[in-house]
Amino acid sequence: MFNEKTCKKCGLCLSECPFMEMPVEKAKQEIERIIQTGSLGEVAKSCAGCGYCNVICPTQSNPLDLRKQILEKKSAGKGAVGLGIICEEVPANLMSMAMEYEKEEKEENLKAYTNPLKSDTAFYLGCSLSYIYTDLAKSRLFDEFPKIGGMKYCCGGYVNRTFGEEETKIKGRQLLDRFHETGIQKVITFCPGCDHMLQDVFPSLLDEFNIEVQPVFEYLLERHKEGKLTFPNPLNRKVTFHDSCAWRSVDSKIYEGPRQLLETMGAEVVEMKHNRNKSICCGSPIASRNPAAADRVVEKRIAEAKEAGAEMIAVSCSGCFALNKKASEHNIPVFNITELAQMAILEEPPHRLEEISDALNMNMFKTISKNPDLLKARYTIKDGKVIPL
Ligand code: SF4
Ligand code: SF4
Repeated sequence: MFNEKTCKKCGLCLSECPFMEMPVEKAKQEIERIIQTGSLGEVAKSCAGCGYCNVICPTQSNPLDLRKQILEKKSAGKGAVGLGIICEEVPANLMSMAMEYEKEEKEENLKAYTNPLKSDTAFYLGCSLSYIYTDLAKSRLFDEFPKIGGMKYCCGGYVNRTFGEEETKIKGRQLLDRFHETGIQKVITFCPGCDHMLQDVFPSLLDEFNIEVQPVFEYLLERHKEGKLTFPNPLNRKVTFHDSCAWRSVDSKIYEGPRQLLETMGAEVVEMKHNRNKSICCGSPIASRNPAAADRVVEKRIAEAKEAGAEMIAVSCSGCFALNKKASEHNIPVFNITELAQMAILEEPPHRLEEISDALNMNMFKTISKNPDLLKARYTIKDGKVIPL
């Protein structure tokens, strides 16, 4: 919750915001105005929800939640557009549209991901690796446990973002029941958004949510320490790690794992000016809403990578791969950290992240052009049930 009592109206949240960079005096007036009127103004167009302002707020007043609360109030009773609601009851959402690309293979994979063998541990692919960047799960690195994914096991990020605490609790209980049905006590995660939900949101709302969560880089490090995994092909490059915004609210020790893994794989880790919980966003959340602001932030991030002397940027969130287009122009390619692990064990990852993003965007554009009403379809969630409006 935003704490209006502790907020000093210093404006830092807007003047230091990497997307807005408002002049200080204007920022002070703007925060005052937003609090008084409940109208977001420029924040509505330019805020990516990245949470950087929460970290730098001198009074920990939680300015990110001010926006969330205003948006929730505004959309109360109006539901949300179906595109972002990742569940089987919504026929046209971002993931069901992604299915159209390489459909047969995805259907085959999903049969296995949604009916996993009983196991106390599973690789938790999230939506991204189930429907979009499916290549990232294809490696002998990920053979030890069953893989689970698909909408059946969605982490519920969309519920938390839009439908409030009570519905998020219900989503958490549903997910826990599904884990228990297959005996799962521990998941190995690939997506920082899933880390946010499973390590932070659900445990803070539900006492019974006791699933152990291990991010994939920590799993690989553990295997290496146990002598079960070696990296015969050292990276031998200066690599900088771009931290995901979704980690800001999870235990800060999460930031060390990817760096240790990169070093273990033979990289020299160099740091960008903004790193760990003060990392700045990749720009992707507002790429379609405000492309100019998103581009400015991408340029800033690449300038930081260049300044650090990086030859490569590693990411763990597939959304952050959006940095690649601009970064490649500066000869600093972007890789998912699991692709780097594959290279270090002498596998050759197909590295099709950009090709796949472009193909999916094209598919989505065609589908929506044929049926523009898809953007109008709205849904709400009541007691865990998705209801069309
Ligand atoms: S929320 Fe924090 S950073 Fe923003 S104006 Fe208030 S005290 Fe300053
Ligand atoms: S959440 Fe990020 S984009 Fe939004 S105001 Fe805060 S710093 Fe700016």
